[in-house]
Parts: sequence; structure tokens; C-alpha cells
Amino acid sequence: MKYKEGINVLNPVKFENTVIVDFTVPNNIEKFFKDQRFYVEYDSNINNIPDSILVIPLLSNILPVAWFSGVNVIVDEVDEKFYNIIPNIQAGFKNLYPKVKMESKLIAKKIIKNEMKESGRSAQLFSGGIDSLATYIRRIGEKPNLFTIWGADVNLYDKDSWEKVKNYNIKIANKLEAQVFFIKSNFTLILNTRSLGEEYGHLINGFHWWAGVQHGFGLVGLCSPLTYVKEITTFYIPASDTAEFNIPWGSHPLIDNEIKWANTEVVHESYDLSRQGKIHLISRFIKENKDDLQIRVCWQADHNGGNCSKCEKCCRTIVGLLVENIDPNFHGFKVTGDFFSNVKNNILKDFWAYDTIPYWKDIQKKIPLNIRMVDGRHRDFLFWLKNYNFDKHIKPSFHTKIIKSIGRILSVFSKKFIKKIINLKILMYLLSSDFLINTFNFL
Ligand SMILES: [Zn+2]
Repeated sequence: MKYKEGINVLNPVKFENTVIVDFTVPNNIEKFFKDQRFYVEYDSNINNIPDSILVIPLLSNILPVAWFSGVNVIVDEVDEKFYNIIPNIQAGFKNLYPKVKMESKLIAKKIIKNEMKESGRSAQLFSGGIDSLATYIRRIGEKPNLFTIWGADVNLYDKDSWEKVKNYNIKIANKLEAQVFFIKSNFTLILNTRSLGEEYGHLINGFHWWAGVQHGFGLVGLCSPLTYVKEITTFYIPASDTAEFNIPWGSHPLIDNEIKWANTEVVHESYDLSRQGKIHLISRFIKENKDDLQIRVCWQADHNGGNCSKCEKCCRTIVGLLVENIDPNFHGFKVTGDFFSNVKNNILKDFWAYDTIPYWKDIQKKIPLNIRMVDGRHRDFLFWLKNYNFDKHIKPSFHTKIIKSIGRILSVFSKKFIKKIINLKILMYLLSSDFLINTFNFL
């Protein structure tokens, strides 16, 4: 039976190690989708994975769209545990975003009980950044398998960056004696996040759909067939924040800790550690193992495969490592001569987002009171940072944000405009008779 008013999910089709799932959406929410064909590719054999598991990667990415839009999702068969946790996930989102109704349902014609062997093995999402490394080091006794996803932070068109990320993660897995697996999917490309933002942005604190909704449930769900193949019973998603920051966010213990399928349970790991707390953990590991562990935190457009050492996140991580007496130059960053003056300038002139201030305050608290203990080359900077009053920065109003954005756009345009005028002048000179006469004379 076909329900006209819902999102109808067709049965998954396996092609080698790729799962393809087509779906149809009602007219009123068509604007939220760019594609109605979803795929996810694994580097492991998925032949024996039941359809009721194979459908989870798509469901975990489109269910929130359906819940926000008040539309049911209809599927032929689904895993029993996954089906049963749906009200809990909805309650988690409702807790974060109380204005969303979250009343629509997942309708399954068959609910299947799936069980794998109780292996006790674990796995984790792994990007190579501070959060993932801290999770691994905390769980190092279990040697979790590392799952890295292509199509999230690195887009599917950026093959060069992906190769860098892949090679980096293979190297790091070898160093940590862990196994690494790669997953590729168009899960971010099927959604029109711009339309979703326009419609629902005000309900999710102005966040982008990815940050506010998709990046927890959606990423974890992609891993379900692979956890089934590898008999993984505990799956860790590294926490980005702590309760102290108190910012509703798409990956949150209220949601992540509720996710289950077959006999796999998901754990939102290290929610008790602040970012600097995680850097402390990683630094201790580096010191104890005399390790040259490489850290990758940067998502700047031109540097997807490595760190730019200039953006706010890179600078924050570099300073965090320095506070722990670790030289960032040996761990994936490049600290240039003007680094400290640039950071200082950015903080003083409010160039970096107001939302990042809690992270800087977190670092500030960990700068030792006895600054003399710190390496002389950055002692002055850390002394300044320790005493800096971040509270004088006032949260920018919506209007200030708009004016700033317009200012940035205009400055880009004006640079382009000036360039054009210069180019035009050169062209006019080249075409001028003086130039041509001089050239012929020369010849
Ligand atoms: Zn960077």
C-alpha cells in the first residue's frame, strides 16, 4: 500500500559494496530535497546485511526533515531496535528545539529483530581532530575501529583533499594500531539545506541544518551497515562540547545516546571534557609516548586535507597545545613569526565569531599562574591572554551581523572592481597607439 501524503522509501538495492535507496516525497516538501536517490558506499562486503539495516543510513538523514515538516515516512521493513528508539530521538530534538512539533511517524510494514554475535568490539567516528583523538585515547584499551566519512566535511567533488584525509587517517590508524574504514555517501547532497534553513532556521537558533540537526543522527546512521558487518556492539560519536557550553546542537547526548540498531548501542563520548581538557589528554598521550601524532582540525575551503594554521580553529588549537607545552610544529601546524600578533589582532578587533569566546576562556583558565614555567618564546602572549577580558566583547545583534556581512561582500567586490580597472588600464595602454608605435619601432 502506498501512502500518498508521506515520504515513501523504496527497498534498498545493493550494487557491489554500495547501497542505493530511492524515495519519493510529497509536493509540499519537494523544495527540501535536491535528489531522491541516496547512496552510501563501504569498503567492506555488505552482501549479507538485511534490508532492515540497509535502510537506516537514509532514514537517519531524512526522518528529521519529515518530523520538522509534519510528514510521515513509509518504509517496507526496518530494524526493531531502530524503530523503537524513534520516539526517544524525537523527544531529544524536542528538548533542544521546543518549538518543533515532532509528531509525524515512521510507518514500517515489517519490523525485523536483528541480532549479531556479541563480539564486544567497538568503533568510533573519526575525523582526526581533537574530539576524535580524545575519544580514541580514552578508549585505547578497546582499540576501536575508526570510521571516516567522505561527503561530510570534505565534499564529494574534492578528490585531492579526500586523498590527503584518507592517507592521513591510514597513517594515524597504523600508528595507533587501529583499523580504519571509509564510507562515501551523498547524504548531504540529497537535502536542500538552504531551503531547510529558510524554513526552519528560526526554530534551531539560526544554525545551519547540518550543524543544528543532521550531523549527529545522520552521520551515525550511515555507519549502521558497517557496524553490522564488523559486529560492533558499541559505537562512539565524539562529543564536540560539554554541558557547560549549553548550546543546543545536532550532535547531543539527548539524541546520540538514544540511537540503537540490532545489538549496537551509540555513546556520545567525552561530553564531560572541555576542548582544552581533550587537548590536555592528547598532550599527555604525546608526552608519555614521545609521539609525533598529527592533528587535523581545519576545514578551510582551500585546505580541506590539512591545517591552514591561520583560521580561528587552527589558532585556537595551536594556543591550546602551547599551553600544554606541546610544540604544534611537530603535530600538523605551522607557527610563523607573526602568529601571536595575528591572534592578538583578531581577538582585539573582534574578527572572530563571538560564539568561539567560551573556547578561548577555557584555554585562558588552563594557562598556568606561574607564567615563568612557560616557554619564553610565547610567554608574553600567554601572559596577555591570561589577563585578557573577553567579557568586554558584546554579542553582536542581528543588524550588526548583517552590516558586517554586507561590509565583507562589498570589500570583496571593491577589490575585484579595482583589479578590473587596473587590468582595463593595462589593456588600454597596450592597445594605445604609443605602445604599438614603440613596438614596431623596436622590431
Ligand atoms: Zn585552519
